[in-house]
Amino acid sequence: MLLGAIEAGGTKFVCGIGSEHGEIFERVSFPTTTPEETMGQVAAFFRDKAVEAIGIGSFGPVDLHRSSPTYGYITTTPKPHWGNYPILAELQKHVNVPVGFDTDVNAAALGEAEWGAAKGLSSCMYMTIGTGIGAGAIVEERLLHGLLHPEMGHILVRRHEEDHFAGNCPFHNDCLEGMAAGPAIEKRWGKKGFELQDNAKVWEFEAYYLAQAVVNAVLMLCPQKVILGGGVMKQAQLFPAVREQVSRMLNGYVQKPELAGGIDDYIVPPGLGDNAGLSGALVLAKKELELQAQR
Ligand code: ADP
Ligand code: ZN
Repeated sequence: MLLGAIEAGGTKFVCGIGSEHGEIFERVSFPTTTPEETMGQVAAFFRDKAVEAIGIGSFGPVDLHRSSPTYGYITTTPKPHWGNYPILAELQKHVNVPVGFDTDVNAAALGEAEWGAAKGLSSCMYMTIGTGIGAGAIVEERLLHGLLHPEMGHILVRRHEEDHFAGNCPFHNDCLEGMAAGPAIEKRWGKKGFELQDNAKVWEFEAYYLAQAVVNAVLMLCPQKVILGGGVMKQAQLFPAVREQVSRMLNGYVQKPELAGGIDDYIVPPGLGDNAGLSGALVLAKKELELQAQR
């Protein structure tokens, strides 16, 4: 079965064709410009492709309530031109197949649960640390949705005592994203993350903030696997540093082998690498097809 996948990011869009088993046969990528131009490229890509359904994992915030008049919209993004944009309906003008829709990080969590690092588990959390911070959680085999989709990038964190950076979230200043996303690192240190590889303080601060997010997730969502992805996590030295800080912060309170000797296998990079989002969009497509077939 051929399925379509769209990873709709604020920086770039990736479109792909794959199967219900997670194979990816073809992909294209283009920068995110105006909605008209970008969605025009998406429509052109799918025009001659015989897919049975498409999944979109989108940057957000998005409206995921099917009964809402703005279901399938990108809602309050500060990204110029994309606020209040009906991305799902726009795609549906061009394709005549079921389209599944969720956030980019929810899609990635789904992909990892189906074919990646959390395969066979009933729960996991996927967090990306890139231009922003976002996370998706699978709880009891389902993506977690509620009043809204989780916005774990904006959780409040305790400040590192040596860190005097004000933070750069326009809403909260020193929330997790304001302190630990790629742009926060760049603003605090005056250089991009990849240029700071050898500065140990940078990664000590970073691990301190990310570990708080992991600890809070462990305590609130109880995921069986924590997957950390995104550009900033290309700094592989962060993994041991985050694991160490998580152990220190939990201080033995949670007595589970996963958080002791097994922690190297508990806090991990995406099993699907950079394909987590696109693979997850295939799962969204597959699920939407199943849902519509039941109706
Ligand atoms: P996006 O979040 O836009 O989808 P990425 O996940 O690639 O994209 O994240 C981009 C952010 O990650 C930028 O702030 C960039 O500086 C940072 N980044 C990318 N590569 C690295 C690296 N090797 N080391 C540290 N930071 C990086
Ligand atoms: Zn914030």
